Amino acid sequence: MTATVAIIGRPNVGKSTLFNRLVGKRLALVDDQPGVTRDRRSGDARLGDLRFRIVDTAGLEEASASSLEGRMRAQTEEAIREADVVLFLVDARAGLMPLDEHFANLLRRNSTPVILAANKAEGKAGEGGFYEAFTLGLGEPIPMSAEHGEGLADLYDALRPHV
Ligand code: GDP
Ligand code: MG
Repeated sequence: MTATVAIIGRPNVGKSTLFNRLVGKRLALVDDQPGVTRDRRSGDARLGDLRFRIVDTAGLEEASASSLEGRMRAQTEEAIREADVVLFLVDARAGLMPLDEHFANLLRRNSTPVILAANKAEGKAGEGGFYEAFTLGLGEPIPMSAEHGEGLADLYDALRPHV
């Protein structure tokens, strides 16, 4: 059985960038079912010798403000349900926002294992947000840069027990 890893996080933290880096050109068929499923892409990911299915919870950017929270909650809960491990991304440059706390609360109440990663951590601009991420109560964050391919060895170590 191939493990499923769901990338969760508010818009613009770098979920799709990380998805693309881990999937490369091996993009699987895009779900075309109606509703929240439409907003998710899945692919066959590779990281070192690890192979797993990865789900990118995309599409929230297009949601209208009124339905955003409901759709996000539904999509996140569905992704968590079908995942063996959740990869929760926050933005080390922007720092924590209320939506990050919202996701953290959802994840803390769930039994699915969570790997917390502070993305965009390359350079000094990411230091503040990285340390803030400790306050989410989800353990030690992994500093990483999806864009520059940094932190992937730590991500490997964190994923390995779960996939
Ligand atoms: P998503 O909305 O969570 O899927 O985020 P995207 O993957 O679309 O990325 C949002 C923006 O952040 C884009 O402009 C990316 O180029 C940028 N980005 C993604 N990863 C990094 C990173 O590691 N460092 C920096 N500085 N920017 C990044
Ligand atoms: Mg995206």
